[in-house]
Amino acid sequence: MAIATINPATGETLQTFTPLTEAEIEGKLDLAQKAFVEYRNTPFAQRAEWMNEAARILERDRDRFAKIMTLEMGKPIKGAIAEVDKCALVCRYYAERAAEFLADVPASTDASSSFVKYEPLGIILAVMPWNFPFWQVFRFAAPALMAGNVGILKHASNVPQCALAIEEIFKAAGFPAGVFQTLLVGSDKVAAIIADDRVKAATLTGSEAAGISLAVAASKQIKKTVLELGGSDPFIVLESADLSAAVSTAVAARMLNNGQSCIAAKRFILHSSIADEFEQRFLEKFQALKIGDPMNPETDLGPLATPGIVQDLDGLVQTCIAKGAKVLTGGKPLSDRPGNFYPATILTDFPPGTPADNEEFFGPVALLFRVADIDEAIARANAIPFGLGASAWTTVEKERDRLISELEAGAVFINGLVKSDPRLPFGGIKRSGYGRELGVQGIHEFVNIKTVWVK
Ligand code: NDP
Repeated sequence: MAIATINPATGETLQTFTPLTEAEIEGKLDLAQKAFVEYRNTPFAQRAEWMNEAARILERDRDRFAKIMTLEMGKPIKGAIAEVDKCALVCRYYAERAAEFLADVPASTDASSSFVKYEPLGIILAVMPWNFPFWQVFRFAAPALMAGNVGILKHASNVPQCALAIEEIFKAAGFPAGVFQTLLVGSDKVAAIIADDRVKAATLTGSEAAGISLAVAASKQIKKTVLELGGSDPFIVLESADLSAAVSTAVAARMLNNGQSCIAAKRFILHSSIADEFEQRFLEKFQALKIGDPMNPETDLGPLATPGIVQDLDGLVQTCIAKGAKVLTGGKPLSDRPGNFYPATILTDFPPGTPADNEEFFGPVALLFRVADIDEAIARANAIPFGLGASAWTTVEKERDRLISELEAGAVFINGLVKSDPRLPFGGIKRSGYGRELGVQGIHEFVNIKTVWVK
């Protein structure tokens, strides 16, 4: 895949970038390693000062950064602006809390003194996707850098300007040269980079295929990985739910980022007693969404990031339809305009054996299912190879408790939208990946948890 900025709203190639040569990659790894030797000894207060400055730069130039994101991957500009602000938030969160999260933990044993000490590992490789091109990088970089690691970023090939802008932010914030670097390389270079002795661990957000490929390469070198992969998260609405709130949240949960979010609600599992009304209101809201130029602040639904995403999504939709699923709205790419536009789509009445059973629909397509009771709702929700973030709606305490304990997911949100929050761990189970980002757990992923025992 060429490294290039291609406007998804028009299909126009705006800028192409030459991938780094082997010698340039070597130069960057060498710089990163040299930077680590010094950087690991900087006090938390110094790192926090730089991290807070990064937050300030993000906020100061938020419009410019938001426009780069929208230009390269098509998210509606209002979402891009919110994304920049969220990056500032995660910088400040770890600037404030890292010293506490990584403080020595005393343990009472047969030693005269024993404790756990958290030490940085070294160079951490981040392989990141295009869908939240700033947020996904910052939620890795803020804890990793505060822990004293240094970061190298291999960003998705369609967001090179985002990748370069992020490197620029950390430099301008005062972090020493080499502490955070962007490597403009294709995915074919990732296995060699993780195999390099200087690189200690890696994190990847993206597709299952990419995750497997990185994990295999890393495991050959006995190196740790954190993987945040796909999902097909359930949104369960039971009889007692506040229907207005559930419908509005359902639309937001499915349409966030033009539907291209790993934690977007994708399967709507409705109790039969409220299903007709939910479906009707949901359909009206889908049909009222404004689709168009993502730079326009009024736009709800912009283009998908690449023609490949449209093709993959439409392939799944057409397979469902061919097998007998019913289309309530949308259902095929918009051919009346350039760009990668796909309409808000609702599918229902699935016979067994469609892609709705086991695939991720990465775009603005909602899958509706009807169930008779909570047992069937939980069984349907869990009947998927993924487990990222489940949303469930009920006001009955017993049902709530069952949903919290029985849903197979990295997170359960009751009566709310599944979202990431710097203060809470984020990640999946099953084929959605392993490891956690954010919260105290996130900063512990890339450190040596060193046991110290002194007689
Ligand atoms: P990819 O998983 O291919 O891309 C994500 C990142 O991984 C990019 O930096 C990419 O680089 C890199 N990558 C791709 N293949 C490899 C590999 N073999 N080894 C190492 N790195 C690799 O996502 P796509 O853009 O192709 O999207 C495909 C599907 O992935 C989507 O439809 C969706 O289902 C899922 N996805 C999920 C995301 C999530 O948030 N969980 C985010 C994005 C996609 P390069 O761009 O150079 O190929």
